[in-house]
Amino acid sequence: MGDKIRVTVWNEGRHEKTNATVKKVYPKGMHKAIADYLKTQPDMTVRTATLDDPDHGLTDKVIHTTDVLLWWGHMAHHEVRDDIVDKVHQRVLDGMGIICLHSAHFSKIFRKLMGSGCGLKWREAGEKERLWVVRPGHPIVEGIGEYIELPHTEMYGEIFDIPQPDELIFISWFQGGEVFRSGCCWQRGAGKVFYFRPGHETFPIYYDEKIRMVLANAVRWAKPVKSFAPYTTHYQPLEPLPASE
Ligand code: ZN
Repeated sequence: MGDKIRVTVWNEGRHEKTNATVKKVYPKGMHKAIADYLKTQPDMTVRTATLDDPDHGLTDKVIHTTDVLLWWGHMAHHEVRDDIVDKVHQRVLDGMGIICLHSAHFSKIFRKLMGSGCGLKWREAGEKERLWVVRPGHPIVEGIGEYIELPHTEMYGEIFDIPQPDELIFISWFQGGEVFRSGCCWQRGAGKVFYFRPGHETFPIYYDEKIRMVLANAVRWAKPVKSFAPYTTHYQPLEPLPASE
């Protein structure tokens, strides 16, 4: 089935090993929770990779046979090898989609793709979040309705130090009063980038039905566009040009 979208779910995977609460919420790790859902989608083939795998599970072969990469990291961003970040970055420019989740806002790959600091405000109080859809009709929000409500989340607040998104999909409201650009799209080279905020490790957010729908929708949106022509090339004129004197 050559037409299936080849998805790799990458997870740092450290909280699940060291924190009992996280282990209870995600016994097999967040990557497995996300991958198990995406595997139910008939148009996707799904692999997982983690920081502690050889080459972080991101060998050249894996990178070059991935159409869409999901990335979750938090406490060990600095342990991700720069040469692998460079390869993932190049692959995005060449057309691979990437979906950066939650605390991946501070990952090396997201910051490299954004070219800005990517800082934000945060608070871990388990408060309510409502993600408002501000781009109805976009493929990422197909089937989502007006908003997604999460009863307990970590707060992320503006200002989020990112370049202006090409498309803004969600704005979050938090019980404590802050707002946040929770779903943002960019194009980098031939590749699509989606940042999606929900997913703090101590809350069962990746089991939420609507959050899962957004992830599957985002994978479909971010898959490489096959017709994208090479654009870095010396170019002959399409029409005859007047001879220069
Ligand atoms: Zn968090």
